[in-house]
Amino acid sequence: MRETLVLNASFEPLSTVSLRRAVVLVLRDKAVVEQAHPGLRVRAAAVEVPVPQVIRLRRYVRVPFRERAPWSRRGVLVRDRHRCAYCGRRATTVDHVLPRSRGGQDTWLNTVAACADDNHRKADRTPEQAGMRLLTRPFEPTPADALLLALGMRDGASGLPQWLPAPAPAPAGIA
Ligand SMILES: [Zn+2]
Repeated sequence: MRETLVLNASFEPLSTVSLRRAVVLVLRDKAVVEQAHPGLRVRAAAVEVPVPQVIRLRRYVRVPFRERAPWSRRGVLVRDRHRCAYCGRRATTVDHVLPRSRGGQDTWLNTVAACADDNHRKADRTPEQAGMRLLTRPFEPTPADALLLALGMRDGASGLPQWLPAPAPAPAGIA
């Protein structure tokens, strides 16, 4: 997949993003193309733009985290699109795959969105012990996700990732 380098307004390199995300940043006037593939154009939203190799943000952004996104309950719900990892229904709680009582940590890889019913049913057990299967594997957000978040681009309808650092405490989940 083609990647585009993103520079801050100060020309400091921030991250790489997919071509699609880079084009959206340009189309939304969040960034300008600094360098493009010669002769290549990409069609997006009824306009044609050069295929960007390097884009630069119009406004300086402070990216709150570069290497790793801080874990948060709200972040987990957003990452999993508010879908229960066990049944796919709407999730409002965060489940610790390995329960905290067994040493499970508040980490991206140990937590999934879960509906209240499944969270309650699983209780203080591992999925295996509870006879429950994870429909998706938890994953950790990337620096590109963090960058798009810092730009306020977490609009799911546009197909952009919905990342957020979510410093605010989220509603308490069970387990
Ligand atoms: Zn469920």
